[in-house]
Amino acid sequence: MSSIRYPEDSDLRRMLRFSGEDSLIWLGEHRMVLLHAGALSELRKELIGSLGIEQARRILTRMGFASGMRDAELARKVRGAGDLVDAFVVGPQLHMLEGSVQVEPVRLEVDRQSGQFYGEFIWRHSWEAEVHVKEFGEEDHPVCWMQIGYASGYTTAFMGRFILFKEVECAATGLPNCRIVGRPVDEWPDANELTPYFEADSIVGRLLDLREEMEAMRRSIACRNKAPNLIGSSTAFLHAYDLAVKAATTNVTVLLLGETGVGKERFARTLHELSPRHEAPFVAVNCAALPDELIESELFGVERGAFTGAHASRPGKFERADGGTLFLDELGELPLAAQAKLLRVLQEGEIERLGDERTRKVNVRLVAATNVDLHTAVAEGRFRRDLYYRLNVYPITIPALRERASDIPPLVEAMVTRFCSLHDKRLAGLTDKAMRALKAHPWPGNVRELENVIERGVILAPHNGWIEAEHLFVGPLPAEAIHSSISSDGRLEQRSAALGTTSLDLPDAVLDSGMPLDALENELLQRAVKRANGNLSAAARLLGITRPQLNYRLKKNT
Ligand SMILES: [Zn+2]
Repeated sequence: MSSIRYPEDSDLRRMLRFSGEDSLIWLGEHRMVLLHAGALSELRKELIGSLGIEQARRILTRMGFASGMRDAELARKVRGAGDLVDAFVVGPQLHMLEGSVQVEPVRLEVDRQSGQFYGEFIWRHSWEAEVHVKEFGEEDHPVCWMQIGYASGYTTAFMGRFILFKEVECAATGLPNCRIVGRPVDEWPDANELTPYFEADSIVGRLLDLREEMEAMRRSIACRNKAPNLIGSSTAFLHAYDLAVKAATTNVTVLLLGETGVGKERFARTLHELSPRHEAPFVAVNCAALPDELIESELFGVERGAFTGAHASRPGKFERADGGTLFLDELGELPLAAQAKLLRVLQEGEIERLGDERTRKVNVRLVAATNVDLHTAVAEGRFRRDLYYRLNVYPITIPALRERASDIPPLVEAMVTRFCSLHDKRLAGLTDKAMRALKAHPWPGNVRELENVIERGVILAPHNGWIEAEHLFVGPLPAEAIHSSISSDGRLEQRSAALGTTSLDLPDAVLDSGMPLDALENELLQRAVKRANGNLSAAARLLGITRPQLNYRLKKNT
């Protein structure tokens, strides 16, 4: 019998939630599906039949690997602060809770610092061995591929290095149980034969790559200059994008409309990049950011001596953008005097520097943007009617982010990649729950707000880990109302997640959960520290204790 004992698993069972509100099943922040083993068995059979045993094994191994990696996140979250072995056995305990196999530890040596790992476990009642034998009869080789993938994926994510598990005995060969051994990949003498099952490079992988390449080619043919800095495939977005593409090759003045943060400057840049002017300068001016008395000299330039302080002649933005594109953002903020001058430039194609009699020809394509209703501004006398008509030739309304929620996942993916390289971070991605929270948010600040939220998430997420909902939004998330989870005797029980609501007796709820007092205290301390973003004084305040008291309790619990 093994000397390693599993800690009580109510902390894990509580992570499994059957949400009453939306009928989803959650394990931590990952969405789960309760699937018939018989259906998985059908899938397995078809994979073997159509792709052969090698490819089927590869696919199932990688599938298990992906699921193990996700569960490793829970180990950090639930038992990250406690004993290392207790944290590690979250994997075997979840593998059991998920119904794959019963896991009995034989030997476990784990040292996170040095990366040393040796793990040996006995597997009983493996579902894979069971369905395989039922379908194909006994084999002379191990068949628990998905489970081996799980053990390897879990341990690899847990250790932060590739730990490869191998089935040294399998119930599918007629033995009573399976037995698995895990070691760092370079310690396996036959690593070369084993690692290909974990790698994406397979016939199927290559076929998928080819298909992706073909699709990319097709897309690039359909839309030759598809700008990489504009991302979206929703109807609302594509409509605006198509209008921009059509205007790009012409010289028409474009007026970009839309809320703050929808990405008007990106659109303007894209217009420029897709235009014949793309090798000439793109100059952007934010009219709201300049004081009224400076805006004319900024736009049109200044001649020496034009006013006190004008010590040298200086070209304005129009001259700098000669041959290229001038982007005037927040045009609605332009003072009336400057509006008159702008109108003249648009009509005559020439500018006059301040304090200069000469006129200069400029060849500039104007792209303007505003988030105010210019029509109203005209009615209120704040904006020149003639300039408005001059600008409103080709308006493009860029949709708000909430009107194109289907674009959020690809936008997020691109942002995560960008911020990861900016902050030198490696992340596994976003949890399902985090992505759902992003899609449900109303985004008053649009793409710019999304960008800020994602950057924050990238910074807060643990290295090699997942971005979770709580890394994205400050303050409480919409309450997870009533849900069910699995009680210690394996029954589905209804719980209210919102501990502390008046309808709930807190001590009773704690007793019902079966959580030991030490674990409860530890959990409370960790939550407070997390909620205070690591600020121990603030965490102590949350708990109503002093900072030295908090220090003492934290030490006691590690
Ligand atoms: Zn097996």
